[in-house]
Parts: sequence; C-alpha cells; structure tokens
Amino acid sequence: MLQLASCDVLGFDMDHTLCCYDLPAQTELCHQAIAKHMVNDSKYSENLLLPVLDEDLAYGGGLIFDVRHGILLKLDKDGYIEHSRLGLKFLTDKEIAHFYPNRKWDLFEQVQEGCLSVPSLYHMNDNNFDISYLTLLSRLKENVLGDKVIDRCPNTLQDYKEMLQDFNIALNHSWHPDSYEKGTSHFFEAVKKNPEKYLKKCPTAVKLWLNDLKGNGKVLFLLTSSHCDYAQFVMSYCLGHDWRNLFDVVISKAKKPRFFMETHPFRKVDTETLREKENVNKLEKGGWYSQGNCKDLMDLLKDITGKPCPKITYFGDSLRSDIVPAKKHWSWNTVYVMDALRIHDQAINILHDDEKSLLFSDLWGPILNCQKNGPMSSLFGCIVSSFATIAVPSVEYVALQNSSLSFSTFSHAQCTNGFHPGMPDIFCK
Ligand SMILES: [Mg+2]
Repeated sequence: MLQLASCDVLGFDMDHTLCCYDLPAQTELCHQAIAKHMVNDSKYSENLLLPVLDEDLAYGGGLIFDVRHGILLKLDKDGYIEHSRLGLKFLTDKEIAHFYPNRKWDLFEQVQEGCLSVPSLYHMNDNNFDISYLTLLSRLKENVLGDKVIDRCPNTLQDYKEMLQDFNIALNHSWHPDSYEKGTSHFFEAVKKNPEKYLKKCPTAVKLWLNDLKGNGKVLFLLTSSHCDYAQFVMSYCLGHDWRNLFDVVISKAKKPRFFMETHPFRKVDTETLREKENVNKLEKGGWYSQGNCKDLMDLLKDITGKPCPKITYFGDSLRSDIVPAKKHWSWNTVYVMDALRIHDQAINILHDDEKSLLFSDLWGPILNCQKNGPMSSLFGCIVSSFATIAVPSVEYVALQNSSLSFSTFSHAQCTNGFHPGMPDIFCK
C-alpha cells in the first residue's frame, strides 16, 4: 500500500503532471510545429500538415518505434509482435516475418529492464508529446517509402535515413533551449500568445492540497526537463505568480532521464533573468537550479528532512523520463499520471471523444493486453506494473482523496491493483 501521509518528500514533474494541457489542442500544436518546419525548410509534402485527428494514427499504449526498419510495433511482454505498421499500412503476417523471424522483436528484454529509448535503435512512445510524433512519422514514412515496404533498395534506405535526420532537426529546432527567448519555436510562440487555448489552470483543490502538504511538514520539489523560462511561464499561468513558495526546491532543464543516472553538475538559476549561472556543488533549500543530478538532490532532501533515507514519492506522466528511472535507480515510490485513466467513470474530467481518439485505437487494440495472452500482457502493461507504484488519472484525483487514504499498489501477484480509481475495461478489451 502507498500512503502519502507517511512520505517525507513529494516531487512533481511539470508538463502533463502538475500542469495540464488541453490534450487535443496541445497535440495538434506540437504536430504542426514540427510539420511546418519539415514542409517549409525541408520541402516535405504538405499533407504532413493535416490535423492529427484526421486519421486514426495516434495511440497512447506505448508502441515501440523500431528505428532500424522505421516500423511501429505493438508487443507483448515476451517480445512477440501483435501488430505492426509502416507508414500508414499495417503489415501482413508475411511482411512481419520478413523483418522479424518468429514474429519476435529482438530487443524487448532491454525495454523490459527499463531502457525505453536508444536513439539509434528504438524508442517507446510513452507520453502525450510522443502522440504527435507518431502521426507525423507515419505520414513521413508513407511519403518517403511509399509502397516500397518490403523490397528496400539502398536508395530507399538512404531516403529513410535522411528523413529521420530532417525529423530530428525539426524536433531540435522546436525544443532548442534558446527558442523560447528568441521566439523561434512555433510551439512556444503559440502557447505564449494563447496560454488559455493550450494550458489548464491548476485546480484549486491541487493548490490547497500542496499547501496542506507543506503545512504538514512535507518537503516538496518540482523536477522538470522544461527550460527555465518556459517553466516560469507555465507554472505562473497554471499555479499563479507565487508558485515558487509551494516548493522547497525547483529544478528545471533537468534532462530526464539522464538526471537520474548521470552526475551532471547543477547550475544556479537567476530568478530575475531566468538565465543559468555558475555551477554549484551543494543545493540550498528554497533554491532554483537547472540540469544537475539525483545524487545531489538526494543530499539536499536528506539535509532538509534530517533523515538518512527519506521516503520519497514522485509524480510523473512519462514512463521513460519519470517513472522508470526514479523507481529503477533510486527506489522512489512512483505515481504514474495516466491520462487514459480519465476514461474511468469515477475519475475527474472524464475524457471526451477527441481525447479518446488520441489515446485509444481500434486498429491497435487495447493498451494493456495482447489478445492472445490476457490482461496486462502487453509490453506497455508490463512496464507500467513493474515500475509504477500506482497509476492515477490526474494529480487532482489524488488531491481530492482523504489524506490518510492508502492506495493499493502494483505487485507481481496483483498486477492490476495499482490502477486508481480502478482499471477500465477498455484497457484490456
Ligand atoms: Mg511531463
């Protein structure tokens, strides 16, 4: 059981965790930001600009993108392929066998162990930002590879490599650390101009809950990979201009998941200019820092709590950046904020039709199982139940529960018990 009242420290990711977006609007904007760059600068077809919801290409169930072949895979927990798609086309059994002997994907054990992305080999699409990339990559591959699915000639492979390079250039352009300040990212400019279109104000219940936690002696931290200036903008809009008072320490530009594994130094953030200043060896309570590493953060949390092993619970929406590394490398309790759970009739802000279209797909099937093997048999389901302590529809849902409530957790014997308020049928049927 997980009881938040008995934790010493609670940490929060920002995007899609503490600060929520209008999912269809944000997905479309993210998609358009990258697609426009590719159409304008790299001269790809204008059909990339079609809205995400025009085709059933999005899916929230942790598909693997196999970079070597450019194929999207839905896998079971033992690495067997249930469905696969190249471009806009689902592969036949014969085509699957051509790429994957025995219908098995060779790298699944790495994913099972928690390595969800190796840029040259594969990438698990595990969070809301990835949803827009799924659509774009599928259309791109269709344009570049066309019907040359099986008989790849060297020219086609070269085209595919160049396409991936162009895609990565467009991504880097949109998320470059200077792009918010310089006004060069279509994504940041649109959010700056119309925050009410893309961002949701943080519910009063969440702000009261955070204040109560602080009042009850809990240590709170924010840990986001967003850049300092964008974090200031989003947090101010969602939680109000005094948002920093809620946190004992703030870390932005954290470069998760590397934050949890590497020893990159922290830098102090100038809270006036939001620029990064000198490296620091030791964190101080009340500070705002960028980059850094989990070991130094742990030293601060031990200092503040006066405990050699403080009990830490961390909330995040990304398996790859938040949930897996925090659990795997630091044994933190992890609360997976899973928008798909908002389909449950006891959740808050139940999913509307457009959101359902982004997160679920009749073509790919249920997110947590593969038809032949029963509940929680998909690789995605296996990762969720192995690395999340619990999964919840939103931070607001947790904030509205009784503070002394104990949440049932995922365990090997009861691998669906960690879903709250429960596991919706659509996850498995
Ligand atoms: Mg996030």
